[in-house]
Amino acid sequence: MAESNQEGARMSEDEMMTHLKNALDRMTETVRIYHFKAGDPGNMFDGLAEKTLATFGGLAKKLSVETLALDDPRAAEWGVERAPTLVFSPDRYRIKWLGAPVGEEGRTLVEMLFILGFGQSGLSDQSTKMLEKLDGERAVKVFVSPTCPYCPQQAINAVRAAVARPDAVSVELIDIQANPDLADRYEAQSVPMSFADDALIGMGAQSEEIFIQSMIAFEEKRVFIPDIEGERIETDLLIVGGGPAGLTAAIYAKRAGLETALVEKGMLGGQVATTPVVENYPGFTSVGGKALVDIMVTHAMEYARIFQGEEVVAIKPGTPIEVTTSRRVFTAKSLLLATGATHRRLGAPGEERLSGRGVSYCATCDGPLFKGRRVIMVGGGNSAVTEALYLFHMGVDVTLAHRRDTLRAQEYLVKSLTDNAIPVLWNSRVSEIRGKERVESALIEDTRTGKTRTMATDGVFIAIGYSPTTDLAEKIGVTLTPEGYIQRDARHRTNIPGIYSAGDAEGGYKQIVTAAGQGAEAAMSIFEDLINPYWKRARK
Ligand code: NAP
Repeated sequence: MAESNQEGARMSEDEMMTHLKNALDRMTETVRIYHFKAGDPGNMFDGLAEKTLATFGGLAKKLSVETLALDDPRAAEWGVERAPTLVFSPDRYRIKWLGAPVGEEGRTLVEMLFILGFGQSGLSDQSTKMLEKLDGERAVKVFVSPTCPYCPQQAINAVRAAVARPDAVSVELIDIQANPDLADRYEAQSVPMSFADDALIGMGAQSEEIFIQSMIAFEEKRVFIPDIEGERIETDLLIVGGGPAGLTAAIYAKRAGLETALVEKGMLGGQVATTPVVENYPGFTSVGGKALVDIMVTHAMEYARIFQGEEVVAIKPGTPIEVTTSRRVFTAKSLLLATGATHRRLGAPGEERLSGRGVSYCATCDGPLFKGRRVIMVGGGNSAVTEALYLFHMGVDVTLAHRRDTLRAQEYLVKSLTDNAIPVLWNSRVSEIRGKERVESALIEDTRTGKTRTMATDGVFIAIGYSPTTDLAEKIGVTLTPEGYIQRDARHRTNIPGIYSAGDAEGGYKQIVTAAGQGAEAAMSIFEDLINPYWKRARK
C-alpha cells in the first residue's frame, strides 16, 4: 500500500514536471541564468543551486544556464561578490539571487521564469501607474528563506518591479541560510524582510501595491487606497479569505452551481501554511501545513477564481453587495467572510520594537536563523508545543515558557515534549523583552511569587493563540460576540442579509477540519438562500 502510494506520488511529480515543461516551452523571451560558483566542494548551497538549475535548465528551449567562477570578469561587471549567486538575464534586468532556490524558494524561481520568459511584469494597473512615476533608482534587497511560505510573494513583488522598470529597479533576493553574515549586517532576524537602498520598507509579505508604495517612499506603508476602479466582476458568491474555510467554501459553492470568486490579501492557506506539522487532519497521519494547504489550494483552483494578493478595502452591503479591492470591484449576490485570525501579541515591553529582530511569530519562517542558538517559546497550547518541537528538531536550543503549571496542548504533543527533554519554565511570564538592536534577554516573572529574573536569549518566539480578524465585518456593522468573533446563526448567516461567516473568525474549536466543515456548511447555506432568499421570506 505504502509502495503504491509512493508510486502515485512519483507519477504525479513526473506529470507536474511535464506540465511545467509544456508551459515553459511557450516562453517568448530567452532567459539566461548565470550561476557563479565558489568552486569549494564544501559549499552546500553551490551544490543545491547546481542541482536545481540542472532540473530547470533542461525544461525549456529558451532557458539557458551557464556556470561561472567567481573570478570570471563578468562577476565584477555585474557586481557579484559571493557564491552561489545567480544572475538573471543581465542584458535586460538587474536581478540577482544570493543562495540556492530550494524549498519555498523553488516556487519563486518557477514564477520568476514565467515573468522573465514572457517579458511581462504582471503588475496590476495600480502598481504600474505608481511605478511609472518613480523618479530615481531603487536597489531592493529581500531576505528570504527556503522554509518561509510568505517569502515567494514578497520576492515576486520585487521581481515584477525590476521587470517593469529595469532602468530604475535592481533586486537582490538574499537567502538567509546561505548568507547569515548579510542577514546579521541588516539585522534581518525574520523573513521576508525588504530594504530599498538599505532603508527598511517591509517586514513580512506585503500586497504588491503596498510593496511598490513602500519601495518608492523608502519606508514601510501599511494602507493602500486605490485611485482607479479597475475591472468589475459580477459573481454569485465572493469569499474573503483563503484559509481552509474559504477554500472549502469555494469548492462546495462552485460545485453547487454558484459563480464563485475568492480574494486573499496574503498567503493562501492562512495559519495552516506556517504550521510545521499537522497530525490530526483525517487522511494524513503527518503532513506539513504548507503541503496540506497546497493540496487544498490546487483543489479550490479547479473550481473558483482565486485573486491572491488583493486586499479588500471597502464593502457596501446591499443587493448586490459591492466589494472594492485594491485592484477591482466585485458585485456579489452573497459574501462569505472567512477572514480567520491573526497572531495574538504578548503585549510585553520590547515586543514590538524587537519584532523581526529576534521576536518572531513564525517558527517555520524564522527558525533556521536560530540554529544552534537559544530561544524562548512562549505559550502552552498546541501551537507553542508543535513549534517548540519543530525548533528543537532543527537544532535550536529551545525552552518553553508557560504561565501556568499545566499545558493546554494535547497529551500526544506534551509527551513528545517530555520525550525530547525540552526544558519548560513553569508558571513563567515573559514580562519584558530586552536588547539594543536585537533580542538579548527576557525578563521572566514567576506568576506565583511575582519575582523576576533575567534570562539571556537570542530570540523569543510567541505562540499564545489568535485574535479573530473582524475589522472588515465590524466596519460594515456585522454584529460581533462579546469575545469579538463574528456572531452568526446555525446557518452561518450574520445579521446583514447576504453576508455569512465561516472558520476562525466565528470562533469555536479552531481546527483545520472544523474550519473546512464550517466553510462547507456556509457554502450550502448560501446556495439554499440564493435559490430561496430567507430575507425575502421573512418579509412576507
Ligand atoms: P491556544 O490553544 O489558545 O493556547 C494559547 C496558549 O497561550 C495557552 O497555553 C495560554 O495559556 C497561552 N497564553 C495566552 N495568552 C497569553 C499571554 N498573554 N501570555 C502568556 N501566555 C498566554 O492557542 P494555540 O496553541 O495557538 O492554538 C490555537 C488553536 O489552533 C487551538 O484550537 C489549537 O487546538 C489549534 N491548533 C491545533 C494544532 C494541532 O492540532 N496540531 C496545532 C496548532 C494549533 P493558558 O493555557 O494559561 O490559557
